[in-house]
Amino acid sequence: MKLHEYEAKNIFKSYGIPISEGYVTSGEIKEIKKPVVIKAQVLVGGRGKSGGILFANTLEETTEKIKELLNKEIKGEKVEKVLVEEKLPIKKEYYLGIVIDRKEKKPLILFSTEGGVDIEEVAQKNPEKIVKYYMDPQKEFLPYLARNMLKKINIPSKEIPKVADIIYKLYKVFKEMDGILVEINPLVITEDGRVLAADGVLNVDDDAHHRHDYSKFEEFDRRNNFEFAYVKLNGNIGVIGNGAGLTLASMDIVKEYGGDPACFLDIGGGADERVVRKAIEKILENKNVDGIFINILAGITRCDEVAKGIVEALKRHPKVKFSVRMMGTNEKEGREILIENNIPFEKSMEDAAKKLVEMVKDY
Ligand code: GDP
Ligand code: MN
Repeated sequence: MKLHEYEAKNIFKSYGIPISEGYVTSGEIKEIKKPVVIKAQVLVGGRGKSGGILFANTLEETTEKIKELLNKEIKGEKVEKVLVEEKLPIKKEYYLGIVIDRKEKKPLILFSTEGGVDIEEVAQKNPEKIVKYYMDPQKEFLPYLARNMLKKINIPSKEIPKVADIIYKLYKVFKEMDGILVEINPLVITEDGRVLAADGVLNVDDDAHHRHDYSKFEEFDRRNNFEFAYVKLNGNIGVIGNGAGLTLASMDIVKEYGGDPACFLDIGGGADERVVRKAIEKILENKNVDGIFINILAGITRCDEVAKGIVEALKRHPKVKFSVRMMGTNEKEGREILIENNIPFEKSMEDAAKKLVEMVKDY
């Protein structure tokens, strides 16, 4: 999973890596103390080149540019938040990154005096400007290793302690967060001698989710929204199934009883309450929808989770009509939840489809 720049930087900061003063917003700001840089929070690289980084000197200008960015798409990604930070007086841009090297099966630490550009490009054109260090993951990464790395490349010796300290701390972030990629590009030396992370990338390993609470990161929610497959159609009856085959069959039955499907929505296997609710809400974004037919053959999916999802959706959209058929895992528990909440439940999918078609007829 990818973290946004502001999320990555917050983590960097908690490990003692210097970042510039700023805050994230999706609206108005009240004051600026110094000239600022306004940065679109999107999960694509090269925002600078795609117009995702703007500068402003006054509050008025800042407000204007925030709006401009919030109305933009950067490489196809809608901008929902921007990061407003002190504009750094940059003297020099370095590159620092740590990745898992698949071949060596080790973390690879990369540092380059050519920052602010793609590291692949530097690797092609000026490979001598990159130092690499393969880290033994069983061992501790000590600050002297970072200093030794920097001695192999052309940077002023007075910068070495501060930069080495950042490398040391960034490795800690990488290890403790179960990173698969972490990057500071550029790592900046300012005119007034500060060394800070001007950008931040942190991609974490999804397989390590049990060790962390990744749900606090923005991408977590957005991903869960995409845990179902949705295709919008022209009718007024939403159709939800689990598995593409069952969902298609459910649409056919709706048509057989004279109804017109508003969508194909497959919640897949193992959808929980939240995914079910989100799926229903996705369907309800289409204002033509009068009712939803839900057809579940529960295996990994649990009928009680599906029922809870329907109940949660109904709390938010009390007028929507449902007709449900579900069989399999936790069927009894699921049915009880539906009955308690007066949600029509049928034993066969034919009956459930027919019932819904009748319910929405007078609409
Ligand atoms: P990216 O294009 O998505 O990697 O976004 P970055 O945050 O790395 O910014 C791209 C470039 O914008 C940097 O390499 C800098 O040259 C410039 N930039 C970003 N922040 C600042 C800043 O605070 N001051 C100055 N002068 N330039 C900045
Ligand atoms: Mn960058």
